[in-house]
Amino acid sequence: MVGLQLPVCSVFFSILLAVVYFSKKRINSFENKIYSVMLISSIIDSLLVTFLQICGYFEITDTLHVIIEWVNKLDFILLICFTSCLFLYAVLITFPKIKQNINRLFFYSAIFNILGIIIMLFLDIDVTFLESNKATVVGGAPVVTAIVCATHILATIVVTLLGFKRISTRHIPIFMSIGLTILLLVLYSLDPFLIIISITLTFINFLMYFTIENPDLKMIEELNVARMHAERANLAKSEFLSSMSHEIRTPLNAIVGFSDCILRENDLQVAKEDAKDIVTASKNLLEIVNGILDISKIEANKMEIVETDYNPRETIYNLVKLVVPRIGEKPIEMKVGITQDLPQVLHGDVKKLKQIITNILTNAVKYTDKGTITVMVTCLNQEGISLLSISVEDTGRGIKPEKIDKLFNKFERLDEDRNTTIEGTGLGLAITKRLVEMMGGKIIVQSKFGEGSKFTVYLKQRISDQKEVKEENKTVVAKHYPGKKILVVDDNKINLKVASKILRELEISVEEVDNGFSCMEKIQNGEDYDMILLDDMMPRMSGSETLVQLKKIPAFSIPVIALTANAIEGMKEEYLKKGFDDYLAKPISRKELYRVLNQFLDGHQEGENGNKIDFGPLPQEIFEFSTTPQQEKTTYDLDYLKNKGIDVDKGLSLLRDEETYREMMTTFLQEIDQKIEKMKTFINEKNAKEYAVLAHGVKSDAKYFGFTELADIAYQHELKGKENNMDFIIKHWEKFDQEINRIKEIIRPYLEGDRS
Ligand code: ADP
Repeated sequence: MVGLQLPVCSVFFSILLAVVYFSKKRINSFENKIYSVMLISSIIDSLLVTFLQICGYFEITDTLHVIIEWVNKLDFILLICFTSCLFLYAVLITFPKIKQNINRLFFYSAIFNILGIIIMLFLDIDVTFLESNKATVVGGAPVVTAIVCATHILATIVVTLLGFKRISTRHIPIFMSIGLTILLLVLYSLDPFLIIISITLTFINFLMYFTIENPDLKMIEELNVARMHAERANLAKSEFLSSMSHEIRTPLNAIVGFSDCILRENDLQVAKEDAKDIVTASKNLLEIVNGILDISKIEANKMEIVETDYNPRETIYNLVKLVVPRIGEKPIEMKVGITQDLPQVLHGDVKKLKQIITNILTNAVKYTDKGTITVMVTCLNQEGISLLSISVEDTGRGIKPEKIDKLFNKFERLDEDRNTTIEGTGLGLAITKRLVEMMGGKIIVQSKFGEGSKFTVYLKQRISDQKEVKEENKTVVAKHYPGKKILVVDDNKINLKVASKILRELEISVEEVDNGFSCMEKIQNGEDYDMILLDDMMPRMSGSETLVQLKKIPAFSIPVIALTANAIEGMKEEYLKKGFDDYLAKPISRKELYRVLNQFLDGHQEGENGNKIDFGPLPQEIFEFSTTPQQEKTTYDLDYLKNKGIDVDKGLSLLRDEETYREMMTTFLQEIDQKIEKMKTFINEKNAKEYAVLAHGVKSDAKYFGFTELADIAYQHELKGKENNMDFIIKHWEKFDQEINRIKEIIRPYLEGDRS
């Protein structure tokens, strides 16, 4: 009966352990699953061994002999299973990061075990009973089992040694198991009749239970980890809140402080300077609030990916075009290189992409004083996917290596002392990184302090099968309206000409009048129009006043569109309230005009059959300063204007061709002297209101032609006129007059010049 005691003991203890273990609430982890398998293997193993021991007390018939052999083989399978679990367990607790690849490890070890088991099953096993219950098991099967189990134990030793730096109390059962296996071998060599394997397995399981696999201990451990995470998150939130309130308070203080100054200030010029500071601080505040909203949205997983088709080349050029003005006076050259392979149309979240590129590009501009900023876009196209690499390299101040890690932290601004003159919130890169990651990409920074930085974004985007982006705002449908008739009312001849030119291009017949009274007269005389474009700011009777009169005419139902240079936000609502049907800001944009025409002459927004007007190629010359070849002969004169500081492109973007530009400018030159005389008369008469109307006209013309400075001065005069501030007008008239004369001197030779 000696041989039975140990197996029965292990049956009893392993069942007890299993009951305790399985009755407790456990975490669903790989370790727990492995341990469960080990427990079950140990129970079955001890049951089988007990059965084999009991067989020893009976007469061994041939049938029983075969059964005993197969039960032995079954037991070998359990041993293989147990040692394999031990190995996997050792891997898991030594290298916790392997969890992502654990399935692959399971797969390989399962193949190894199955191979071993199949070979073992085919090999022979010879069980010889000596006296009573003592038996020896020899043959190929036990040898293969021993080899497989030894391999597991060896692998366990190797794994533990490889991760020796991570060895902790959790490894105690592993070491014990290794030690016990070696002890088993020694004992077996001394007495081959010992039945101690099952009790060893049970012992190992007990050890594991009391050191690592006790669900209570595990629960506490997990709870601790969860608590630590919660505490850390809470701390981060508090830090975020406190830095946020600090960041918000800075611009708010400026706003409150400067507002207070304005209240006390009598000098308008000083007050204006203060107001400028308020605007700057408010913009900064807005940027912070937007940034915070973005960050919280991303962190709360509320930011969604919205995918559309887009033209990557155009997107990048447009972004660069937007950022270039920020360079200001700094001697920086902006270069853009885009690979020829870049697909025509990509499918992805273009809004986020724009935000990402804008952030790194504006940083490059902000933190570079001179040199070059190079935007490089390359790609690798494969199986419908384009792997984009977008880099922005600058020759700016660079970043210290030890600071690179902090770069993407919220509110982290490096070298605060040097940053004082550069506006920023420290949120840009934090948002950028999160956006890139949301889109499944990567951002990399390379930088040499004092020499420059390079930010590279890698993103995968689907290549769209569309040939062209069907974007509403890219092309605007300009329909032709033969037979339609529009009345344009504007006191400014240039405005009249521009509007008429565009309308006539669309086969619309146009009538022009230069004041509200004539407009009234025409309607009262029964003339019918499909639309009236009515300028608001006109002398004697404004557009708004004219509209009031028009509405009094019975059955008046012509759509009236306000034309105004008052292009501030919220103006549209103002005009709609006054009874206008829509609003067009001056200088008139073709796109907007087409929209209004489509809406009121057709009754719907966009026509499908119209000719597509493409707004022409992108003005690439701004990026390729050094490489742009000299313009053709006919534009020589335009170059002359450009060199004189005139924003010719603006004029041309509106009037389309040089012919019209020149023609309009001739009208301007013919009229300007007369206008100057009138303005002088109004000054003498102290008639600020009428003076303001004329100044408004000059401003509007100046804007059309790209006389930026003149437009600014005229605008100031217009404002002062409206405020009835004759003192300012008298004091600054000379400057205004001088600027007009300067412009006259510039454009006269251009207009008289030989064009050939
Ligand atoms: P900020 O609003 O301050 O620009 P960001 O998060 O965009 O915030 O950038 C964080 C900090 O990283 C900046 O304050 C600046 O010190 C540094 N930085 C970012 N881009 C560059 C660059 N191109 N060259 C040098 N420093 C940079």
